[in-house]
This record gives sequence, C-alpha cells and structure tokens, in this order.
Amino acid sequence: MSAAILDGTAAAAAIREELAARAAAWPGPLTLAVVLVGDDPASAVYVRNKEKACKKAGIRSVAHRLPADTPEADLRTLVASLNADPEVDGILVQLPLPRHLPEREILDLIVPEKDVDGFHPVNQGRVLLGDRAALAPCTPAGVLELLRRNDIPVTGKRAVIVGRSSIVGRPLAALLIAADATVTVCHTKTRDLAAEVARAEVLVVAAGRRHVVKPEWITPGAVVVDVGIHRLDDGTLAGDLDFAPTAERASAITPVPGGIGPMTIAMLLTNTVRAGLARRGWTG
Ligand code: NAD
Repeated sequence: MSAAILDGTAAAAAIREELAARAAAWPGPLTLAVVLVGDDPASAVYVRNKEKACKKAGIRSVAHRLPADTPEADLRTLVASLNADPEVDGILVQLPLPRHLPEREILDLIVPEKDVDGFHPVNQGRVLLGDRAALAPCTPAGVLELLRRNDIPVTGKRAVIVGRSSIVGRPLAALLIAADATVTVCHTKTRDLAAEVARAEVLVVAAGRRHVVKPEWITPGAVVVDVGIHRLDDGTLAGDLDFAPTAERASAITPVPGGIGPMTIAMLLTNTVRAGLARRGWTG
C-alpha cells in the first residue's frame, strides 16, 4: 500500500487565500500582535514565518521584539497594553520565554478573546466543553482541518493520540471527541503502546521523540498524522515517525516538513480572523 500524502503546505496556502479574499469585505485590517522575547534563532524563524503568513492572508502583523533580559514587569505591561488596544485582534507570545519569565502566568494574562494561540485556560476549557466557537489551540485544530480538507471523516473512528501535552495531545483529544471519534490518549506511562497503536484507524503521533511508534505496529490502512518536528544533524527536518515504512502501511499520511507545521500557522491566521470579527462585530 502506498499512502496518500496529506499536503499541509497546499491546504495552508488555500486557507491564506480564502482569508485574504474575505478581508476585502471588512472595513479595515485585522491585526496580530506578536511578542518575541530574546534571541532564540528558532523562535525568530517562527515569528518571521508567522509575519509572512499574515501578509499573504491580508492580516496586519506587528512584532514586538524585546531583549532577553526584559524584566517580567515590562512584559506584563506590554501584554496589558495589547489587551487594551482596540486595534489589536490577536496576541501571540512566542514560546519558549527566557527562563526568568513565568510562561504560564504570562500566557494567562492575555485576554481570552485575543488568545489566538488558544492556550488560555478559558479557551482550553471551552474546547473541552465541545464549544465550537472557542479559539482552539492551533496545532490540534490544524490536524482536524487537514483531515477535513482531505475528506477524511473521523466520526465513529477509533482515534489514537500518542502524547498528552496541553498544547497538542489533550486539546486534540477534546476536538476529536467533539468530532465524534472514539479517542484513546497514550503517554509515557501507557502499558502497551503497540497494542493501543494497533487499534487506531486514525493515529496522531505527538511524542516529541523520534521513532517511538514502530511502523509495524500500525494497522494497514490507518490514517497517520505526524505532529513531531525534529531538526536532524544534517539540517533537514523530520517528524516523530519513520516516514517511508510508515507510509507503506498507512492509507494517508502527513509529511514533515509540509504537514501539520504549515497548518498550525494557518490556524493561527484563522483564529486571528475569528477573534477579530467576533470582537469588532464585523461579518464576512
Ligand atoms: P511534549 O514533550 O510536551 O509532550 C510529549 C508527549 O508525548 C508527552 O505527553 C509524553 O507523555 C508523550 N510521550 C513521549 N514519549 C513517549 C513514549 N515513548 N511513549 C508514549 N508517549 C510518549 O511535546 P509537545 O509540545 O506536545 O510536542 C510534541 C511534538 O510536536 C514535538 O516534536 C514538537 O516539536 C512538535 N510540535 C509541532 C508543532 C507544529 O506546528 N507542527 C506544534 C507543537 C509541537
């Protein structure tokens, strides 16, 4: 069996074009504020990619680049001013923050209606309650959207997630339950990972470790989504899975790069538009 490739790059481009087309109907631009503290090179690349994606989607982005030794009080003041700024529709604080800054406390300062990363407990709670209007975390939302755009229904399917982080595994479980899948969440204490993986009709791997799931565990025909991102010694990117042998067994599979990574940014744009329209009372 040779798997269909679930092309996140193409789907993300389509989403950006759809958003840009809708922007023409609005009285003015929507704005995403991006806060980057410090000089982590990977974070700088992520922020630049988000700025580029905003531009293509007709969204204004304003980056606030702060030095690595920014005092906590200054960052709190900036977030408070963005919360209060009527021109700002979405606020994103790029992670990781330098060690002296308390990540969770800073994220919790963002008002839920501008929390386009979907990390605030109010938004996470709404997702858990099955509220489709909630601003859902972008990576799990991107998984669902990529499946939807490839006409892969999850209703009634056995979905197995490997990983229970608060930004991927847990909210993904909530979104899949809301989409009527039967969901199993695996983690480092799961007793028999191979047996759980074998039950999957839809398998999502977000373990953050390479080759935790062996291709031979996967039931032939499963739909496989690889959320992991790893930079290999040769500079190339790879996912959690061993792509070629996994693709031999799957009916459909996401590549890395070009799968969930671009979908995550596309869902950030979508969340910014949803947040902006809801707050401003604009339609279209
Ligand atoms: P994390 O380290 O916070 O969580 C990993 C989870 O996997 C944990 O819940 C852990 O219990 C589970 N796990 C780890 N090893 C396991 C094993 N051997 N067996 C069973 N479960 C195991 O990671 P995260 O933030 O959720 O990210 C996961 C991966 O996804 C990383 O590679 C990260 O870079 C990537 N990621 C990608 C995007 C994207 O935009 N594509 C976004 C977020 C994260």
